[in-house]
Amino acid sequence: MLFVCDMHIHIGSAGNRQAVKVTASKDLTFANIAKEAAERKGIDVVGIIDCASPRVIADIEEMIDTGEMLPLDGGGLRYREAVTVILGSEVETREPGGGMSHHCSYFPDIRALKAFSAIMEQYITNVNLSSQACGLSAAELFRIAEGCEGVMVPAHCFTPHKSPYGACVERMAKMFGDAWERIPAIELGLSADAFLADRIQELSDKSLLSNSDAHSLPKIGREYNILQMEQASFAEFAKALWRQDGRRVEANFGLDPRLGKYHRTYCEDCGHIALGEPPVPACERCNSTNITRGVLDRIVQIADYAEPHPPEHRGPYQYQVPLQFVPGVGSVALNRLINRFGSEMAVLHQATRAEIGQAVGEKVADLIIAAREGALRLQAGGGGRYGRAVTKDTSQIRLPGIS
Ligand SMILES: [Zn+2]
Ligand SMILES: [Zn+2]
Repeated sequence: MLFVCDMHIHIGSAGNRQAVKVTASKDLTFANIAKEAAERKGIDVVGIIDCASPRVIADIEEMIDTGEMLPLDGGGLRYREAVTVILGSEVETREPGGGMSHHCSYFPDIRALKAFSAIMEQYITNVNLSSQACGLSAAELFRIAEGCEGVMVPAHCFTPHKSPYGACVERMAKMFGDAWERIPAIELGLSADAFLADRIQELSDKSLLSNSDAHSLPKIGREYNILQMEQASFAEFAKALWRQDGRRVEANFGLDPRLGKYHRTYCEDCGHIALGEPPVPACERCNSTNITRGVLDRIVQIADYAEPHPPEHRGPYQYQVPLQFVPGVGSVALNRLINRFGSEMAVLHQATRAEIGQAVGEKVADLIIAAREGALRLQAGGGGRYGRAVTKDTSQIRLPGIS
């Protein structure tokens, strides 16, 4: 069976309103994520990656006690027969050379998660907060996660500030040593896609995940994966990453990487986002070398191949423009569409132009269809600024709802 899975979602606060991720929306609680995925997004499996916070653990235990969350035999928690939650934790590591990177570890059950949390408490100053620095290297974190039955996936692997390729190394095999072959998958991040990752040879064995890294409820599902599994559970998820017994990542649905916040090199002095042939070593406009290197620029710099070399097992990578990114779709139109079609996925992939037009008018329907067909012109993002959709009449429209 095929399942829609978004495996990187943050928590803003615990059920009692205590902060978990300061920069994330307060509505992003453990319970609300499951509800949003079930009722509005049409997502089958969510990986919540701030679960090692004792504040979140308390929420999870309460939901298990009240029967709202049902522990599954294969690991994971079932919510209302609709959504499976996989418990995860994103942690920041530091290499001996100083580079920092993020890694998401996923755990079968609350027991394994609590064991991981208890160990990490020794290394993290405030284990209640999200994506905290632990001072360990990525290889050291891997051993702890593995010891707690976790599966670790390096996160948003190419972004400039906190990622393996963006901030630490040219080859992850070097960073992880022996552990590299015990890592089944990597996460691409919003500014990269499979075509770019497949220019690096050491990734050919790895499954690729495209996840939302959502810091607010509407952003859940802006990237997701279609996984072939027998059922939605932790054990099946792990098998899919390892491509065992016919389980696999069947397809990735992600943003066109130009819409990501770090696609091209950005000048910190004059704000220019590079346009020319990558890699760009200095600002094209003011010559400054005070730059934040773009994901595309970095990949071209370290690539083994000038063209993508997708391995046999790689599924298709499908671009999608989430409704939030479509010019003209405000919150009123968004709610009307979701109420009419049941979920954002149904609007993005199934609803016809005529049906969308009836719900929100012809103009918006045209834009949604143009986005679906890849007909919107895009201007690349960089330095923490999202890319933009540019409508056909060339009047530039800033993407709504995005900081
Ligand atoms: Zn991160
Ligand atoms: Zn400049």
